[in-house]
Amino acid sequence: MRRLRIDDSRSILTRLPIAVSYKKIPVQKPGPDEVLINVKYSGVCHTDLHAMMGDWPIPTKMPLVGGHEGAGVVVAKGELVTDLELGDKAGIKWLNGSCLACSFCMQADEPLCPKALLSGYTVDGTFQQYAVAKAAHVARIPAECDLAAVAPVLCAGITVYKGLKESGARPGQHVAIVGAGGGLGSMAIQYARAMGLHAVAIDGGAEKGESCAALGAAAYVDYTTSVGDDFVRDVRKAAAPDGLGPHAVLLLAVAEKPFHQATQYVRSRGAVVCIGLPAGAHLSAPVFDTVVRMLTIKGSYVGNRQDTQEALDFFRRGLVKVPFKTAGLSELQDVYQLMREGKIVGRYVVDTSK
Ligand SMILES: [Zn+2]
Ligand SMILES: [Zn+2]
Repeated sequence: MRRLRIDDSRSILTRLPIAVSYKKIPVQKPGPDEVLINVKYSGVCHTDLHAMMGDWPIPTKMPLVGGHEGAGVVVAKGELVTDLELGDKAGIKWLNGSCLACSFCMQADEPLCPKALLSGYTVDGTFQQYAVAKAAHVARIPAECDLAAVAPVLCAGITVYKGLKESGARPGQHVAIVGAGGGLGSMAIQYARAMGLHAVAIDGGAEKGESCAALGAAAYVDYTTSVGDDFVRDVRKAAAPDGLGPHAVLLLAVAEKPFHQATQYVRSRGAVVCIGLPAGAHLSAPVFDTVVRMLTIKGSYVGNRQDTQEALDFFRRGLVKVPFKTAGLSELQDVYQLMREGKIVGRYVVDTSK
C-alpha cells in the first residue's frame, strides 16, 4: 500500500519551500464510533496547500496526512456504527468529527464545535488509501455517484451551497458571486441556478466571462474593464430589473479589495457573505450605510451534516458538475506547484492507487 505523509523536510528539487513525502504508513483501526474508508479519490483544495505551508494561525498535527475531499468505500466500522454498511460509498470532509454534545453541535452548528476534528489538519486526512472518520460526520454518497467526480463536492460544493443558504436569498432573487471564474465560483453559479437564484458573476477577463455564461450565470461583470464607480453601477445594473443591486453577495475571492467593495453595490437589506480567506485580510464598511441601508455582513464556514447531504443531492440529480482533472497521489507535489502558480482551472482530484 502506498501512503503519503506531509512533513517539513526541505527539498532542493522543488520550487515550493516545503515538500510532501510519499511513503507507507500503517492502516489506522477505527474506534467504536468511527469508520475506515478506502479512499479512492481525493480532491485537492487550497486549504491543503495552506496546511502544508503552515500559513494559518492554527498549528497542524505533525507529521500530517493532508486532504479533506476524500471519496471512497466503507471497509471497516466500529461496533457503535449501525447506519453505515461495509461497501457503502462514503466521503471524508473537512469536519472529520465533533463532540455532538456542546451547544453548537446540538443546534447543527458542528463546524463551530470547540472540539472539532479537522481532516488533513488536526487529524490525518484523505491523501492516503485508508482513512478514518467519525461515522456521524461521514458524508453518505449515493451509490450512483462517480467517486472521482463527487470528491470536490465534499469541500468546495458544501461550502458554496452553505454560503448561498446563509445569504438568505430566495428563488427569483439575484446573488453576486465574486471570484465566479474560480473553482468555488464555478460551483456557486451552478448551485445558485439550481436553487432558482440569478447569479451575477464577477471576475476578471473575457475568458472567465465565457465560462461563467456557459455554467448558467445570468450576467457577468469584468472588474478589469469596469472600475471604480462604474463597477458599482454595473453590478447593480446586472441585478436586473430595477438596478438596485443584488440581494446577496458571495465573496469567494482570495484578494482583500472585493471585501471592501461589496457593501457599495449590495442591495439595501441585502447580505454580504464572506467565504474566501485572503491571507491577513480585514473587512471594512461604512457604518452609516450599513445602518441606514440595513445591511448584513457575515461569514459562512463549510456546512453541517444536513447541508452535506443536500449539496450531494444536487450533484446526484446532475444539477452541479465539477470540471476536474485527475493525477496520481504520487504526483501531489506537482499539483501543489501548479496551484501555487495559479495554473489550475477547475479542480485536481488525486487517484490514491497511483
Ligand atoms: Zn477545502
Ligand atoms: Zn460540539
